[in-house]
Formats: sequence, C-alpha cells, structure tokens
Amino acid sequence: MIIDHEKLELLSKATEPGQSELNSILKEASKGRGLGLEEAASLLAIKDADKLGELFKAAGELKERVFGKRIVLFAPLYLSNYCTNGCTYCGFRAQNRDMARRALTIDEAVAEAKALEEMGFKRVLLVTGEDPRWGLDYIAGAVRAIYEKTGMRIVHVNAPPMDTDSLKELKAAGAGVYQAFQETYHRPTYELMHPSGRKKDYDYRLSVMDRAMEAGFGDVGIGALLGLYDYRFDSLASIAHSLHLFKTFGAHAHTISIPRLRPAEAGLNEVPWRLSDDELKKVVAVFRLSVPSAGIVASTRESAPFRSELIKIGATQLSAASKTNPGGYKGEQTLEQFSTNDHRSLQEVVRSVVDEGLLPSLCTTCYRVGRTGHDFTDKAMAGEMEKFCQANAVLTLKEYLLDYCVNGSKEAVNKAIDAGLKEVKDEGAINEGLKEVKDEGLKKVIIERLKELDEGKRDLYF
Ligand code: SF4
Repeated sequence: MIIDHEKLELLSKATEPGQSELNSILKEASKGRGLGLEEAASLLAIKDADKLGELFKAAGELKERVFGKRIVLFAPLYLSNYCTNGCTYCGFRAQNRDMARRALTIDEAVAEAKALEEMGFKRVLLVTGEDPRWGLDYIAGAVRAIYEKTGMRIVHVNAPPMDTDSLKELKAAGAGVYQAFQETYHRPTYELMHPSGRKKDYDYRLSVMDRAMEAGFGDVGIGALLGLYDYRFDSLASIAHSLHLFKTFGAHAHTISIPRLRPAEAGLNEVPWRLSDDELKKVVAVFRLSVPSAGIVASTRESAPFRSELIKIGATQLSAASKTNPGGYKGEQTLEQFSTNDHRSLQEVVRSVVDEGLLPSLCTTCYRVGRTGHDFTDKAMAGEMEKFCQANAVLTLKEYLLDYCVNGSKEAVNKAIDAGLKEVKDEGAINEGLKEVKDEGLKKVIIERLKELDEGKRDLYF
C-alpha cells in the first residue's frame, strides 16, 4: 500500500519533539540518507521558533552538500487549457464554460518555446489540461517539434496520467521528467475535490508514477496542492510516495513540488486548509532532509521575497517569468490557471539568486547524459552530485552572461561565476564522465571550458 491513511493520520498529529529528540533527528538527517516517516512527522510538528531555526539551518546545509549553491531555473509552457475534469479549485475546470479555451497548435507551441529561448531558458516544462482531443499524440508532437525547431535542451512534461504504453511513447519523444501531482493524497478530500472527469479516479492517478518508471522514465515529479487538506498529512504522504518509488525502483521522486493553493477564477473562494509561510518553509525543510536527492520546486505562486527565503532552506528549483495560460509568452491574455505572485523576468530572478549568494543554473545535463533514476538518486545520496551541479551552473551561467545578460546585471553575474568557480572542490573531483582529462583537476577543466565558451563554443557540461 503506497498510502496508509490510518498511519498517516496518526503521524500527522505527532507532538513537537523535545530538544534531545530534535538533535538526534537532525544528526541522522545530516548523514544525507533521508528520514523515515516518524522522524519527518516529528519535524513537521515543530512550532517553537528556535527549533524551527535549527530545522531550517540543517536543511539549508544539507542542500548545499548535495547540490552545491546552484538553483536551477526553468519556465512552464502551457499548451492547452481544455479540460474535461471538474477539479473544484482550478480555473480550467470543465464547468467553467464562460472561459475562453485555447489549445496551441504545434507551431504556436514552438513559437512559445522560442520566446522562452530568447529570454535565455534552456529547460521548459510543458503543461496541459486533460482532454483526449489534446492527448498523447499532441503532447509528444509538441515535445518533438520543440527539440527540432528550438534550442531548448530539455523538455519536461506535466500531463494527465496515462497507461504504460502511452508513457513509453512520451518517453520516446524525448520527454525528460514526467510530472503529475496527486493534488491531495487524502482519499476523502480527493473525492470531494474531483467530482467528475477521469481525474475522479484516485488510484489511477496515484499509480501513474509506477507506470512511468516501468515505461522507462527514470525521473518523475510528484507534489500535493498544499491547502486542499492538512499539510502535515499531504507532506508525509508525498514522502511515503517517494519512499515507495525508492523501494520499488531504486529511485526517489526526482522532484517534489510545493504548490500552495491560491484562489483561481471560477475556483474555490476559500482555501480549505490554509497554511502559513512558516508552515510552508517547514514543509520544504522536511522534504529536503527526508528525501535529500529530490529537487524541490517553488513556483511563481509564491512571492519573490518568499522564494528567496525558500532557496536558502532547501528549495533547489525556481520557475521564472511564468505565464500560466496558453500563448502567454507571445502576449495572449486568456485566463491563467492560477494567479502568479512573482512577475519578475528571468534576468531579474538570476540577479536576485546571485544577490542571495547562490548560483543560478540553466543546466540540463543529467537528463541528457542518462544520469537519471536510481543512478541519480545514488549519486545525490552519496554526495557526488555537488561537483557536477556546481561546475555546470558555472558553465551555463557563463553562457547566459555571453548571450542574454544585459548590461545592468553583467558585473554581478560575472562575480557569481568567479565565486561559483572558487567553490568547486578540486580534490578528487574528476568523474567518470571526464575520463579524457583524468590527470587534471576539475577546476582547471572548467576554466578551459569557460575560455571555449568565450571563443564561441556552446553547450559544454560535465
Ligand atoms: S548536474 Fe544534473 S542535477 Fe545538477 S543541475 Fe545539472 S541537471 Fe541538475
């Protein structure tokens, strides 16, 4: 059983840990091997400000040990807002008959991806509603066309659950991560929130990550729409889901997203289980310590200052410049799926990550060199990813500086590249992917590659 409701209900009422219990959980977490549900439940019960401070500090430190200072940036690309489901909280639901529906043609999807490429993005996440008229062939066609006609280096997909054969086709089209959120793992709430459409089927949705892994996706992205039910239950269930994948396939969820429910047009007026900023920070920190290999994704649902806090306590990926309506990057004004709360451009987000002393990254390497699935999980848990992430962040930031950065930010970005380079650990940093330079230090190779970028080469990575 992936989700044991009775157990999770009990654990979500755990009491706050005493100081010695907290110390011992954080000590265990600092090993980077993850935590069990009981420990995660104790951490989620923390209310005391000092203990929260300790939790956030431990999570921030572990994040740096696993992934270095890099923060990966990407953009969502909404393909279609046609949907046959009746999710009560979503502006795209079928019952919202007055809204203008729009499905991009493949050429329009390519144009949107090009608009993102012109901003400097290298990774894009395709998002679509659930409607058989814009199903697998359409999504896979968009993935292929974006690779063929733009410089996007990786295309991830957030799409409705499918059967294993369809997921195989999606994978064959070149999709990187397959993402689908359970929304809430709490079955009674799920049934209430999803009264109609195919999404009504809780079990079909819950089992899609198993099918995706069987279909060859090493990397899958999970998440709960926090605020539909008790955040403690849904956070623990997300960890349980990832533990199930690890046990079954040897790979944890590649990403865990932390969308917090926001009012949407024609959706809910009230958030049923509203959670505070501190509670969301706690969720991020607990995910970081419980599933150290997972990317934690904070979207533009959250404000700019709050996202700056989240990246210091364990979040590793930010969407940027997001439009959540089809055609949004080319200026169309149709209804957004949710109202965004951070309207900054990619350049502004890059600059603010730099100002936080972190390293913006447009890296897409792992998906392209097959460092995925259990290989990725193993490397991340063994502390071997940090050097790749740091090196590739430096290289992609340099490309960004050369090709997209406008004057105001150039100096700051240049300094960040230097600072990032200083942090690359030299000792024993040569990896299997670098056999040809076995006798040299990683830092030396990065410096050579930076020079090659200056000379006009592109897309260099480790
Ligand atoms: S090296 Fe891999 S994990 Fe690190 S940023 Fe690049 S793609 Fe992500």
